[in-house]
Amino acid sequence: MNRNEELFNRAKAIIPGGVNSPVRAFGSVGGVPRFIKKAQGAFVWDAADKQYIDYVGSWGPAIVGHAHPEVLEAVREAAVDGLSFGAPTEVEIVIAEEIAKILPSVEQLRLVSSGTEATMSAIRLARGYTGRDKIVKFEGCYHGHSDSLLVKAGSGLLTFGNPSSAGVPADFTKHTVVLPYNDTEALKEAFAGFGHEIACVIIEPIAGNMNLVKPSSEFVQTLRRITEENGSVLIYDEVMTGFRVALGGAQSLHGITPDLTTMGKVIGGGMPLAAFGGKKEIMACISPLGGVYQAGTLSGNPVAVAAGLKTLEIIQRPGFYENLTARTEQLVNGLAEAARAAGTVFTADSVGGMFGLYFAGKKPETYADMTASNIENFKRFFHGMLEEGVAFGPSAYEASFMSAAHTPELIEDTVKAARKVFAAMSV
Ligand SMILES: *Cc1c(COP(=O)(O)O)cnc(C)c1O
Repeated sequence: MNRNEELFNRAKAIIPGGVNSPVRAFGSVGGVPRFIKKAQGAFVWDAADKQYIDYVGSWGPAIVGHAHPEVLEAVREAAVDGLSFGAPTEVEIVIAEEIAKILPSVEQLRLVSSGTEATMSAIRLARGYTGRDKIVKFEGCYHGHSDSLLVKAGSGLLTFGNPSSAGVPADFTKHTVVLPYNDTEALKEAFAGFGHEIACVIIEPIAGNMNLVKPSSEFVQTLRRITEENGSVLIYDEVMTGFRVALGGAQSLHGITPDLTTMGKVIGGGMPLAAFGGKKEIMACISPLGGVYQAGTLSGNPVAVAAGLKTLEIIQRPGFYENLTARTEQLVNGLAEAARAAGTVFTADSVGGMFGLYFAGKKPETYADMTASNIENFKRFFHGMLEEGVAFGPSAYEASFMSAAHTPELIEDTVKAARKVFAAMSV
């Protein structure tokens, strides 16, 4: 038995499914998950000492490359002074000021420990600020695992959602409306029906949890206008896209000023750190200033903040995003060309340091498009590449991530491996 299999069996005896987050179990691709024991730069190594070029990047945080020496040094320095105090610190102010400088829409913010906490808190805040209960989300967007967001569309367009997880009372999700992504007419119809009851709309402004799906300009412009007209809070969930698709996130690419923004992944540089922030008038509703309660024992943890601050410093160095974007494009163009040569139906898309691979003839615009792609081909590609020493996320519905440590040579190696895998798939 291979070491990964041994560990998976041992894990399954003590941890449900053997993992601490479901996608890691390889459930949707089959086979044995690789237990990672080390990461450095663009590489990860599994428990059997196999090396992989890694395009998961811890699902986004590893934008400067794994175990970056400067980030590690910042973490070491912070750790020596104590791991957590449960009291305010100066570095929390520094990182908050830094984030607000990068994102002009964020006038004030609060630090939390996970993206789930950030979105859950932003929604409570929007409800507290507006005094309304209803919220709108879009099909295929993931905003963490809090109750009111684990919702799938109901039977009709203007009906409320049903729980997408056992354990979520239908009573909690009856306030959540689920609309199709990129559907401007459905959005208008919902607001025409009950716009003045909607506390907020939360959106992945470039979706990354149904693979990569870009919104149309018309859709995001309409969304901003209609929420403003109805006094509803617009929440850009940039936990994935923030500091990833561009330094200023999707909002900088769209030219949109959301009322609230949620952040995570990159801002912690691999440590548990996330944030939500936006208009001062709305943020003032949070406890201890206002009546919306929100708290956290480890919020603004000094070691996590140190990793985040150093990461934010590195990504603001000249040329960082130009390089990241060029390398992402090198990869997706190379993969598309390799698929074409083998006659495999495949398209790819990217923005900044994030990309999507689709076993379909066209780029998806909705969740329905995404689910219509050839999942069997994705599985064969995924396992073929893993065998060749290249790791993508173990699901056809996940986006992939580039880091600054991926050199043009490593990308060429990846494309070479893909040529082999596509060729084997076409026989
Ligand atoms: C990852 C993610 C979350 C949840 O963040 P966690 O830190 O996993 O709780 C929320 N929203 C989006 C868009 C994400 O990609």
